[in-house]
Amino acid sequence: MRHIINPPNPYNRYSAEYVGEPPPTKLEIFEETATKKVITKAFASDWEGGWRYTVNCYRGCVHGCTYCFARQYHEYLGYGAGTDFETKIVVKPNTPTLLRQELKKTRDKMPHIDFSFATDPYLPLEAEYQLTRKCLEVCAEFRVPVGVITKSPLVTRDIDILKKLKVSVFFSLPFLTKEKSNPFEPYTPVPEARFRAMKMLSDAGIQTGIGVAPIIPGYNESDIPGLLERAKESGATRAFMSMLHLDTDSIEEYFVQKMHERLPETRVAKIINTIKRERGGSLRHRSYKERGTGKTEQWEVTKRLFDFHSRRLGFKGHEVPEPVELPAEPLQANLF
Ligand code: SF4
Repeated sequence: MRHIINPPNPYNRYSAEYVGEPPPTKLEIFEETATKKVITKAFASDWEGGWRYTVNCYRGCVHGCTYCFARQYHEYLGYGAGTDFETKIVVKPNTPTLLRQELKKTRDKMPHIDFSFATDPYLPLEAEYQLTRKCLEVCAEFRVPVGVITKSPLVTRDIDILKKLKVSVFFSLPFLTKEKSNPFEPYTPVPEARFRAMKMLSDAGIQTGIGVAPIIPGYNESDIPGLLERAKESGATRAFMSMLHLDTDSIEEYFVQKMHERLPETRVAKIINTIKRERGGSLRHRSYKERGTGKTEQWEVTKRLFDFHSRRLGFKGHEVPEPVELPAEPLQANLF
């Protein structure tokens, strides 16, 4: 049973504080009609090229990774970045319809679309709603190159559509074992399940990759060689890494509190001290530049280790895919 732990929302005037044990939570689903554009242009500081076009059919994520940077987006909706992010899930059922309408107007200017960043596109609700699947069908119609980042084997359900797309499916896999993953990724499919799904997609001829993300300084650097080797065995051809980013006070507070609950104190102290040593005594990066390509010594050393093994195993990065050549006729004229 989960109990509510929501650090104060900086956009709300008031926040609840419980005297004694906070109440247990339950999963709540809110269906919302999206009225604006569903393609968002977002700057991703860890990605080559920076700017990404993303689509998210859901907000919040039941996978509940304690380090998740998307927790802050739940605060924009008036919820908390802690338990609320994992249990109050917003679903936008009309996303595929709006995506089609938007692509009719913007396809020529759309180099690629990523399904990720604000949530996992294959969170368990997707099994029922099938919104990511329907959006992929739209992308296949309009021949938009696609990137997917997920932790869920549910993506294998959509092999038939993925085969029609120019696509890379990345599995976010920062820890080698269930034991290491569990304190930080309590409700996600275990690493072995993600590797199995990666193999299934690769065997089906779909380009797959691994995102060793995040590296938590003092905790999982040693997993890098093993993760890349397992990914290679599972057919992946692309790999990227990113360091832990704790972008807001609420994410930092939640992350630290969960470490204290789930890890021995000596381990927690090692992680906190390792991070603070590099970030001027703070768990947060000192600047957005440092957050991005990360010019800390820690980042350089970790990146060198990652690059060495990545090169040794022949991985490519996660750059934007080559554009798909479109027919001379406007594409929607061929479609409708
Ligand atoms: S699976 Fe991704 S979106 Fe979901 S909580 Fe984990 S990091 Fe965040």
